[in-house]
Amino acid sequence: STAVVLFTSDLRLHDHPPLRAALKACDRVVPLFVRDDGIKAAGVRSPNRDAFLADCLADLDTGLRARGGRLVIRSGGVVDQVCAVAREADADELHMAAGVTAYAHAREARLRSALEREGRRVYVHDAVITALAPGAVVPSGSDHFAVFTPYFRRWSQEELRGTLAAPRAVPVPEDVRSEAVPSRKDVKGVSEGLAAGGEREGRRRLSAWLRHGIVRYDETHDDLAGDATSRLSPHLHFGTVSAAETVHGARRAGGPGAEAFVRQVCWRDFHHQVLAARPAAATDDYRDRHDRWRSEDEAGDEIEAWKGGHTGYPVIDAAMRQLRHEGWMHNRGRLLTASFLTKTLYVDWRVGAAHFLEFLVDGDVANNQLNWQWVAGTGTDTRPNRVLNPVRQGRRHDPDGAYVRRWVPELAGLEGAAVHEPWKLQDRERARFDYPEPLVDLDHGLARFKEARGAG
Ligand code: FAD
Repeated sequence: STAVVLFTSDLRLHDHPPLRAALKACDRVVPLFVRDDGIKAAGVRSPNRDAFLADCLADLDTGLRARGGRLVIRSGGVVDQVCAVAREADADELHMAAGVTAYAHAREARLRSALEREGRRVYVHDAVITALAPGAVVPSGSDHFAVFTPYFRRWSQEELRGTLAAPRAVPVPEDVRSEAVPSRKDVKGVSEGLAAGGEREGRRRLSAWLRHGIVRYDETHDDLAGDATSRLSPHLHFGTVSAAETVHGARRAGGPGAEAFVRQVCWRDFHHQVLAARPAAATDDYRDRHDRWRSEDEAGDEIEAWKGGHTGYPVIDAAMRQLRHEGWMHNRGRLLTASFLTKTLYVDWRVGAAHFLEFLVDGDVANNQLNWQWVAGTGTDTRPNRVLNPVRQGRRHDPDGAYVRRWVPELAGLEGAAVHEPWKLQDRERARFDYPEPLVDLDHGLARFKEARGAG
């Protein structure tokens, strides 16, 4: 008998429940990836993620070949392609991971009805993309947790499924057609400093992190210049490392660093369970605060300055330039730049979220949209009117100014924390630096936001 395993955001061989189940039930398996037109049409593709994806597919193919198999790649509509492959291979069943977005839910339903009509069985596996399946824990009277801390408490009490080893052999039927494996070299517009993708790279990073990096994570995760976070986010996004395996590994490592890290990975599950229950939160306010955000028409120049890293606030500009250069930004930078756009400039969070999704290699609908909503105060934040001050935050999380100097070379001649307030220099000294005046007055931005929100 034959099974098709459809890979989506789970591009790995280790700890892969759908592949495991398919190999157990059938003697031949078609590992399939579809370059889905539907995702392209939804506008959530980006060169950085396409390049990282190419690395992941190449590595998945290599891993499968080492086990006597290969990856089958197709392009087009996902349902048409899966059905075509199932017919070519005369497959009895399909295995895939459950997704959380509205698109993923619709894809599952369409695949189920199309394949079952042809007499093929469909199995959708939970807890492949997240450590705990969305909906596995719910508070009484609701279908999801809207507050993180009680979710984390319940999540921590649940036993996660065990880690599965990678299969030793993946026998693939010979006569199934495949397109060539893509290469990142074929993708245009990729950020210069983009990290490498693929399961081997993800596992290397995870094991190095568990051995060394994690120990001091509780103390250093907010240190912008120290760059001391795991950088596992793109691997978790593409599933080249498994969230469950990551949590198990961190728990085994133990200590306060690991505890703080597990809490952060739980945030990922938290946002996924919110989105699974409220798919519209990808575009609509989770909680409507009646904001009359300034639109792209009203604030076009300010939005452009924000995107380009020319706001005149050094820590904001550093973070926005890191995003363009690496396709990744430190979490503290994401918090500061998102707060600046939504609260200081009072621009719609959707404008910022779209820009992030264009560049972020880890950009995903659950984490990006819901973190943006969290910062904008339209999401699950219990302090929706909090505004982060970029100068105070810069001094606290980049006390020596090294992060700013790394990304804003115009200010490299300024020493220490003075780099956070170039406007305090004497005029003559200031003229030496080709760096803009602050785009807005922070007090003015704060007052506008408080008035708009009626927050006094
Ligand atoms: P670490 O600090 O090492 O954390 C480990 C893992 O925990 C991360 O890889 C990530 O999977 C998870 N995690 C950590 N913080 C969060 C968080 N706040 N929410 C959800 N998961 C978290 N993360 C994304 O993966 N994709 C996004 O598109 C994304 N957009 C964001 C947008 C904004 C405005 C903000 C404030 C945050 C966003 N984040 C997003 C969350 C967070 O910034 C990144 O996950 C983190 O910076 C990735 O770096 P790391 O892997 O080194 O994280």
